[in-house]
Amino acid sequence: MTKYNFFAGPAILPKQVMAKAAESVIEMGDMGLSILEISHRSKEVVEIMENAVSLTKELLGIGDDFEVLFLSGGASSQFYMSAMNMLGENETAGYVDTGAWSTKAIKEANAFGNVQVLSSSSDKNFSYIPKGYDIPSDLKYLHVTSNNTIFGTQFQDFPDSQVPLICDASSDIFSRPLDMSKFGILYAGAQKNLGPAGVTLAIVNKEFLKKQARETPTMLDYNTHVKKASAFNTPPVFPIYVSMLTLEWIKANGGLSGMAQRNAEKAKILYDEIDRNSMFKGTAAAEDRSLMNVCFLPVNEDHTAAFIEKCAEAGCVGVKGHRSVGGFRASIYNAMPKEGVETLVEVMKSFESAHA
Ligand code: PMP
Repeated sequence: MTKYNFFAGPAILPKQVMAKAAESVIEMGDMGLSILEISHRSKEVVEIMENAVSLTKELLGIGDDFEVLFLSGGASSQFYMSAMNMLGENETAGYVDTGAWSTKAIKEANAFGNVQVLSSSSDKNFSYIPKGYDIPSDLKYLHVTSNNTIFGTQFQDFPDSQVPLICDASSDIFSRPLDMSKFGILYAGAQKNLGPAGVTLAIVNKEFLKKQARETPTMLDYNTHVKKASAFNTPPVFPIYVSMLTLEWIKANGGLSGMAQRNAEKAKILYDEIDRNSMFKGTAAAEDRSLMNVCFLPVNEDHTAAFIEKCAEAGCVGVKGHRSVGGFRASIYNAMPKEGVETLVEVMKSFESAHA
């Protein structure tokens, strides 16, 4: 039976990418060696890294005004690394609190400078994206979480201001085109739309980085990784390689506008069914609904386990919701085929027929 992976992360990757990655684990090209055992200084790996950087730039439409870095430590390390580098002791950064990951970013930044939480949706269990708050023009940066993996909300538009954005895009990177001129730093753990766990992408605006706030330990300084093209120490070669393969797949499938179109289509199929079906209700404010993580609840709580079982029987795995929302969460990242979403919708329909 075909399995459809709806887990939030580590998450689904394109089948072709995994097939090629598997091949390269046995033998990389015709080298007679596995990708897992070759030096990060080898010609092959240097080329992989250069290719990953240039595909990232090409897909996002950015040039030499940005540095593309492949780092370790997950998005969680970017919470403090971005603030440590960019927020001076006497400077103020704005944060928008849209869920558990933003809250963690806020906690880390507090250690380095003044943190002003401009708005929060905690009053309604983070079920919406705050709007209409003031953004002081003298902020060093404004931190946002573009997509809230746990709560299923997503910024459809980024805040309108001249303040550079630092953005945690872990769960919607490469899902849609972005106006990169707004961003000082865009970072993402790879393990949703990009590759396996183990590498973190950070895209850093060079002018913004010139306003670095302090000296940091060597490994935590963005400039260290800029100067050494992400190979100051041994980089996570295999996750970078798989990310490069995914970037090639994105390019071959219409780039970011192609992704955005497919993602909108898939999400509409699922949200339309949630709104139609008498057994389920959505949790996020309609205008802020995420195209990546679709959260919904059973109207009758007693149906939770039974529905998850029906999903599993149909090959849909990973549909259980996060404990802070409950119910169900279908993560439908770039690599989720439309058939996966249609299969889930069929399960929802037959669940209604059986129980209504
Ligand atoms: N930010 C967001 C939006 C996330 O979804 C996650 C992981 N699910 C993280 C940060 C943390 O990422 P990591 O595990 O790579 O530290």
